[in-house]
Amino acid sequence: MVDFGFSLSPSSRIDLDEFDRKTFDRLLALEPDAKKCMECGSCSAVCTASRYTETSVRRALHALRNGCGAQAVEELKGCQFCGKCTMVCPRGINTRHLILSILKIYGAL
Ligand code: SF4
Ligand code: SF4
Repeated sequence: MVDFGFSLSPSSRIDLDEFDRKTFDRLLALEPDAKKCMECGSCSAVCTASRYTETSVRRALHALRNGCGAQAVEELKGCQFCGKCTMVCPRGINTRHLILSILKIYGAL
């Protein structure tokens, strides 16, 4: 195969038939503050675990908004519950508690 020096990004198309649209509502019932997230990425920027794993609170919340509970759990598996993300969230979300709730809802704890 010819190497053109670039590659195509994988499709970001969302297949609505595959996803449970009530996923985010289930989280909101336990953690109403999740709605405040503006996906700024501050939490991911300070996360030590994200340097070595795929951990990202921002990506997890984005996945849940798109109905992907399993993907959200994958994004949080490396979390060490240190709480650094909670300290920097400009919306005052207790992200550490949020992570715990997400992992509980989706059976990862
Ligand atoms: S720091 Fe707070 S507002 Fe920003 S992406 Fe993380 S949870 Fe959302
Ligand atoms: S609590 Fe988890 S997600 Fe937040 S900074 Fe610590 S390791 Fe990262």
